[in-house]
Amino acid sequence: MQLATKLIHAGVEPDPSTGAIMTPIYQTSTYVQQAPGKHKGYEYARTQNPTRTVLEKAMAAIENGSHGIAFSSGMAAIEAILHTLHPGDRVIASNDLYGGSYRLFTRLFAKYGIQFQFVDLQDASRLEQVIDHQTKLIWVETPTNPLLRIVDIQACAEIAHAHRALLCVDNTFASPWLQHPLDLGADIVVHSATKYLGGHSDVVLGVVVVKDAELADQLHFIQNSVGAVPGPHDCWLVLRGLKTLHVRMQRHCENARQIAHYLRQHPKVKQVNWCGFTDHPNHEIARKQMRDYGAMMSFTLHDDRLETAHRVLSSTQLFALAESLGGVESLIGHPASMTHASIPREERIKAGLSDSLIRLSVGIEDINDLIADLEQALQKA
Ligand SMILES: *Cc1c(COP(=O)(O)O)cnc(C)c1O
Repeated sequence: MQLATKLIHAGVEPDPSTGAIMTPIYQTSTYVQQAPGKHKGYEYARTQNPTRTVLEKAMAAIENGSHGIAFSSGMAAIEAILHTLHPGDRVIASNDLYGGSYRLFTRLFAKYGIQFQFVDLQDASRLEQVIDHQTKLIWVETPTNPLLRIVDIQACAEIAHAHRALLCVDNTFASPWLQHPLDLGADIVVHSATKYLGGHSDVVLGVVVVKDAELADQLHFIQNSVGAVPGPHDCWLVLRGLKTLHVRMQRHCENARQIAHYLRQHPKVKQVNWCGFTDHPNHEIARKQMRDYGAMMSFTLHDDRLETAHRVLSSTQLFALAESLGGVESLIGHPASMTHASIPREERIKAGLSDSLIRLSVGIEDINDLIADLEQALQKA
């Protein structure tokens, strides 16, 4: 079955009791048993919920895995994966990481004796140099935030497996429409469904997908033991979002392509980071592992002052000034004063996040309106 069909049908059956075509929201905490221990597979709603089960099956099919496990947020999903590790284990992660993941790794899990090392994995052979027998997990984000760098998933998987480590890919930025990490050799895919999967900026939820039954059992055990489960209404919202993921992503990518080219020729713009440009340093890898180039991008201004960036950011009318990404509406953000404000300026600049760096999550509005909005804002730069 092709992905567009899976997005609409995978995991979803008419409700057995009424024939309802859409999955009901099973807003219940427990289930009545016919006799002690005799039930229909549902005992208590932290452990199982039918709305959640449908979402988990759908996500397993959509990511070409065997099992999906849903959590109350992307961070809860990431936490569950880390709970499979033991003190002394080592994790090697790409260095341009989502801030929440970096915080979880270094501020919480590091104190339980798990070691983290952050490496620039744009050149996957760097992994070969640092991996050792204690390394149990490789953590990759691609494209990265906010510089839109690309990591070669297949190359990382081969190195990880040669050293008996697992590869986990945070697929939030690409979405399964653009990239299938499990097909490229990854063992675990994680999503903040809050972004493209939900797609309407109205829900917070996370999902892990794996292709190994034993690993799925471990994650289900953690899901039930920790209890960071999503409510049935939130599962339903993500199920609804999935049905239009392919249509939204196509328009997201089309709009982004036009905006990237528009920005690139703009006299006030210095550099545009978008992996669809043929001269993007990792373009060939993007072309190899992605269906299209996504709708996230960032750019810098010739006038690199913080105030100038702020003038642009507070002048857009359609691009809303907000954190997050992946919704139908366009967002604009300023890493230096928003998502990456906690990093000291010198370190931030060394990492490539200059004062004027502006990030866009391009939505699916009319392209002419979006460009007109950016044009009037850039005139104030
Ligand atoms: C948002 C995000 C997360 C965290 O997800 P939440 O749903 O906000 O908990 C993790 N990884 C990436 C790449 C994200 O963008």
